Amino acid sequence: MRSIYLDYAAATPIDPRVFKAMQPYFSDQFYNPSETYLAARSVRQAIDEARHTIAQILGSRPAEIIFTAGATEANNLAIRGVMDQFPDAEVLVSAVEHESVLAPAKLYKHKLTPLDKQGRVDLTKLEKLINDKTVLVSVILVNNEVGTIQPISEISKILNKLSKSRKSKLPLYLHTDAAQAANLHDLHVARLGVDLLSLNGGKIYGPKQSGLLYAKASTKLKPQIVGGGQELGWRSGTENVPAIIGLTKALDLAQAQRTAELQRLNDLRHNFTKELQESVPVAVINQSKHQSPHIISLTLPGFDNERLMMELDERGVMAAVGSACSASKQAASHVLTAIGLSVEEARSSLRFSFGRPTTTEDLKHASKLLAELTGSNR
Ligand code: PLP
Repeated sequence: MRSIYLDYAAATPIDPRVFKAMQPYFSDQFYNPSETYLAARSVRQAIDEARHTIAQILGSRPAEIIFTAGATEANNLAIRGVMDQFPDAEVLVSAVEHESVLAPAKLYKHKLTPLDKQGRVDLTKLEKLINDKTVLVSVILVNNEVGTIQPISEISKILNKLSKSRKSKLPLYLHTDAAQAANLHDLHVARLGVDLLSLNGGKIYGPKQSGLLYAKASTKLKPQIVGGGQELGWRSGTENVPAIIGLTKALDLAQAQRTAELQRLNDLRHNFTKELQESVPVAVINQSKHQSPHIISLTLPGFDNERLMMELDERGVMAAVGSACSASKQAASHVLTAIGLSVEEARSSLRFSFGRPTTTEDLKHASKLLAELTGSNR
């Protein structure tokens, strides 16, 4: 039986070049980078170089990069790190954030910003929700369940305008969770206009539990993991050197090929959409005009998504019911309901996500199977 993986938004296999770059740091170069003998200093140098490479990609300074164990930690550091500095302040987050942004935001005074008809943050409503107590706005760059690209640079312009005109002495920061964006989209922090940006390696053919937070030098942040003072005091703990090296190599490779890969996946998506429209007419595609091509959310009215997912799995096709990170929960997806689906429709929705190895043939096969499964009487 042919096995087709269509869940690259949940995890990507490690790129052999990334694996190779990491290997020495498990064995010959195992030294603790905080030690001062020569061998350890060369490991320190490798971390410094990695930080430098990342800074070049993001258009930041090296000292603005904090390595973390994945995007959940980076998001927690961004939200809690800022909000802990300003006890009475408010955080504003979009209704389609990942749980690792929503859950920390809920620990503070928070508001959810509504979406427009395209599933994007409604800029007029966002502007109205910002008051003198707002210090942080957090909006995901590319959504992990439906692939909508949010207007981050436009939000940044609104925040800049408001910070100049409002009476409050509080800062007004913009954070974006870019975990689903790095394979296909621009991450330049000045072009995006963000103060904080989270990334991880596990979605970009790098190691899981690797990630980073970009924090602009002027951002007031309270470290959340204290101890030995590593990462310039922002995140204590002996550095996970293989993860740092792997993340850096993965990000470098992903960003170098992102334009070509975006074009390729746009074409793949176009063909898949056509196939679906012809062979699975019941399927409704939940998409926006501002769409990242690697994620396609389908609603199959009347069909139970868990059951469909298992039936596809039995036939070798791996797809997801919403996001992997909340798959253990029974509740309907907050993202799908926020973009206007009913609970019932959300429970009839599947997510397919594409990666570097995905081919037109894979998607032809998947749509053929979906046609068989949804065409049968039940
Ligand atoms: N943010 C988004 C948008 C994600 O898709 C994910 C993972 O699914 C995360 C954050 C969490 O990342 P990690 O598993 O690296 O903590």
